[in-house]
Amino acid sequence: VMASMAHLQKEKLRLQEELLELQEKLAARENNELSLSLQLQGQVETLKEKLLEQAQEISRLRSELGGTDAEKHRDLLAAENERLRQEMKACEGELRELRWQQQQQQQQAPCCDCPHLQENAGLQEQLSQLQREAEETRAKLVELDLEVQQKTNRLAEVELRLKDSLAERAEEEERLSRRLRDSQETIASLKSQPQQIKYIIKTVEVESTKAKQALCETQSQNQYLQEQVGMQKQVLKEMEQQLQSSQKTEAQLRAQIMMYEAELERAHGQMLEEMQAMEEEKNRAIEEAFSRAQVEMKAVHENLAGVRTNLLTLQPALRTLTHDYNSLKRQVRDFPLLLQETLRSARAEISQAIEEVHSTNRELLRKYRRELQLRKKCHNELVRLKGNIRVFGRVRPITKEDGEGPEAASAVTFDADDDAVLHLLHKGKQVSFELDKVFPPQASQEEVFQEVQALVTSCIDGYNVCIFAYGQTGAGKTYTMEGTAANPGINQRALQLLFSEVRGKAADWDYAITVSAAEIYNESLRDLLGKEPQEKLEIKLCPDGSGQLYVPGLTEFRVQSVEDINKVFEFGHVKRVTECTNLNEHSSRSHALLIVTVRGLDRSTGLRTTGKLNLVDLAGSERVGRSGAEGSRLREAQHINKSLSALGDVIYALRSRQGHVPFRNSKLTYLLQDSLSGDSKTLMMVQVSPAEKNTSETLCSLKFAERVRSVELGPVSRKAELGSWPSQEHLEVPKRLLGDSPGSAAPPGRGHASPSPGQLSSRSASIRRKLHTSG
Ligand code: ADP
Ligand code: ADP
Ligand code: MG
Repeated sequence: VMASMAHLQKEKLRLQEELLELQEKLAARENNELSLSLQLQGQVETLKEKLLEQAQEISRLRSELGGTDAEKHRDLLAAENERLRQEMKACEGELRELRWQQQQQQQQAPCCDCPHLQENAGLQEQLSQLQREAEETRAKLVELDLEVQQKTNRLAEVELRLKDSLAERAEEEERLSRRLRDSQETIASLKSQPQQIKYIIKTVEVESTKAKQALCETQSQNQYLQEQVGMQKQVLKEMEQQLQSSQKTEAQLRAQIMMYEAELERAHGQMLEEMQAMEEEKNRAIEEAFSRAQVEMKAVHENLAGVRTNLLTLQPALRTLTHDYNSLKRQVRDFPLLLQETLRSARAEISQAIEEVHSTNRELLRKYRRELQLRKKCHNELVRLKGNIRVFGRVRPITKEDGEGPEAASAVTFDADDDAVLHLLHKGKQVSFELDKVFPPQASQEEVFQEVQALVTSCIDGYNVCIFAYGQTGAGKTYTMEGTAANPGINQRALQLLFSEVRGKAADWDYAITVSAAEIYNESLRDLLGKEPQEKLEIKLCPDGSGQLYVPGLTEFRVQSVEDINKVFEFGHVKRVTECTNLNEHSSRSHALLIVTVRGLDRSTGLRTTGKLNLVDLAGSERVGRSGAEGSRLREAQHINKSLSALGDVIYALRSRQGHVPFRNSKLTYLLQDSLSGDSKTLMMVQVSPAEKNTSETLCSLKFAERVRSVELGPVSRKAELGSWPSQEHLEVPKRLLGDSPGSAAPPGRGHASPSPGQLSSRSASIRRKLHTSG
């Protein structure tokens, strides 16, 4: 549901984006239209300006001109004005038609509830505003017309006045000419008169002074008249000149008018052309805008259709989603109640269950404790029955030292079902051996130690423990006991375990752990931690009469942590390295012992315990050919042979519960006497190499192991029959060994002739008694 909701949300966002795009496109179109209308307006404005200019020109011309020409001109202009107005009207009609077409288109467009309509309305509003503005301009035009009318009226008045003044001038002229004519007439009459006057004068001259006086007067009068005539003539001349100049100016004005008319005509032609061009431009622009708008509109419609179909498909999904959502919401609303109820019941159930579990737990604990005690008892009994000696086998992996080819092939195989069985292919024959446990090559140090762990911890309880590593040189004895720094062996792990166990018991017990390290080479005991390593130590009986053995001069280090242990080991190693030139050679020819003593004191009861853990890395068990070795090498071999067979004797004797155990036959067994006898526990780790070339040695080691292990609990009388353990050289003759015990109660083998528990316990008890007495 959430995913579909998210999807819907995304779809919604996409649609919104599309809508925004459409709006932007519409806005762009609007802008286009606006610019177009602005252009048109500008054109109208320029036209108006031109009209005004022309009107001014006309008025100017009229004022300059006056007369009938101006009237004609005015009529012409008025007609032109009318024509222009009609043109404008036609333009407006076109514009209206265009708008109507647009509206039609918009109405045809079936988007009835989209924002385009609103924008269209806005556009229409703008259009109407523009129309209103056009109306206003028209009104202004009418006003201007009126003004023009007024001006023409005034012009007519001025013309009338001009006519009047012209008429007046004509009258004046007439008057003047009439006076001139009168004056000429009088002059003429006066000219006709002089003879008479002359005559008179003569007569006057003759006749009287009176007449002379009258003559003088008439003469002065005559002179005055003549002067007057001259003056009049001058005035006439001036008048004529004036007339001429005014006629000239008139001609000039007429030429000017002609010029102006031509100019006007030209301007009008230009204006017409411009108007035509503008008209065309306007039409083109409108067409372009229209086509563009149509294309955009189409695209918008397509988009809209797509969006609609999308919406249609999305709607059912949305419906189901909302349905789901509602049901979920209901569930969620009901959930807390349900949860509380369930929780309450669950809590009640849980507390009840806890109560029950508690009671059963208590019961179980009680039973467990009882069982634990029983198990401990049983275990002890089992260990006792099995004997305190166990034999493990460990097969090391094939290493680089084994070389390559058939010689290095593995001759050892394991049983998948039984981890105590091992098969060896020797000279084409398969020989099987059964031990207490067999570790295959892949077994880790950890796994090996897990099997040894129980022995180590019993040391804390006061038991003596011996762990031997037996096998030919290179079979992994040192690896098992000491291990490597990265992968420590039994030594380190045992001590670590001891420390942790001691720490766990620290509440009730005080423990002291001491460590000694010794080496037995050629039957002489040397202290590896002492100051005088060459000194040969002796094993002596305790003077306190306890029958315990001790080695005077053997260094004992008290250790408290793993670090101390590491220091001790390092010290021992350094000793061995400095003392011996060939460490490997020497170490394989000597027995190395690590003796850990754990002394405990129970603070509450005052009980004291002492446990000894002996970890022995034995010398190599390989046989040295009698003919091949001589000198010290032969002596070494003899000593090793002796001590190893003595060890075998001792273990054999112990395991078969013989009355006499020949501890004294070698330094090793003598030193370990108290750790091998009694309730002590012994583990023999027989190391073998799986390589083909080592099969004969491997066979010997395994035979040794099986022999040690296969000793059955038998009657004490067996002591007499068995005698001593055969020497190492004789181990390879199994017939003789097998024939060693013809009178034994049961043949060797696991699970053979196991007596009933009752018989066993009574028998073991008697054996223990006997062992005690044998010391
Ligand atoms: P030994 O002490 O019997 O003479 P070593 O312990 O020195 O034999 O072993 C011989 C070689 O084999 C050593 O290099 C050792 O690391 C290797 N080796 C022995 N056992 C194992 C094992 N279980 N896993 C790996 N390497 C081993
Ligand atoms: P002691 O402690 O009295 O000196 P040992 O126990 O060291 O005597 O025995 C001396 C030798 O006699 C040893 O080599 C030992 O193996 C041998 N020996 C003693 N008793 C027996 C016996 N019952 N069976 C076999 N050999 C024995
Ligand atoms: Mg070794």
